[in-house]
Amino acid sequence: MSLDSLYQEVILDHYKNPHHYGTLPGAPLIHEENPSCGDQIDLQMIVGADQRIQAIKFTGQGCAISRASASMMTEVVEGKTVDEARQLIAEFQQMLMNDADVSDELGDLEALRGVRQFPVRVKCATLAWHALQALLPDADNAPEAKTPA
Ligand code: ZN
Repeated sequence: MSLDSLYQEVILDHYKNPHHYGTLPGAPLIHEENPSCGDQIDLQMIVGADQRIQAIKFTGQGCAISRASASMMTEVVEGKTVDEARQLIAEFQQMLMNDADVSDELGDLEALRGVRQFPVRVKCATLAWHALQALLPDADNAPEAKTPA
C-alpha cells in the first residue's frame, strides 16, 4: 500500500466515523464557514480553570477533508492546555503552508499534509482550526496576565 492511499484511508475513516461529533449544551459555540467549498462547522469547547481543554465537540456539514480535519483536531487538542493548543494550530499551519516538519503531537493530522498541493482544499483543512483559534480564550485574559493592581 502506498503512503498516499494509507493517508487517504485515515482521512476517509475520520470522515465516516468522526471523533468528538456532537454538542456540548451550554458551552460557548463558534460557527465557521468555508464558502468556496460549502463546509460548515459548529465547534464547542469547555476550558477548565487550569486552562486545559476538558471537552471539545463539533457538528457540521462538509467535504471529507474538512470533516476529517475537525475530527483529528478535536482528537489531538482534548486534554491539552490552551497554550499547547495554540502551538498545535501554529504547527498545523506551518505544515500546510511551508511543508514544515511537525512533532508527533499532530498524530493522524500528518495525513493532511498532501492537501497543501491544492490551495482550495487548504481552506477545507484549516476550517476547524480557525474555529478552534476563535474559541480559545484571549491570551490577554490568561490568568498569568492578570496581575493584581
Ligand atoms: Zn471542503
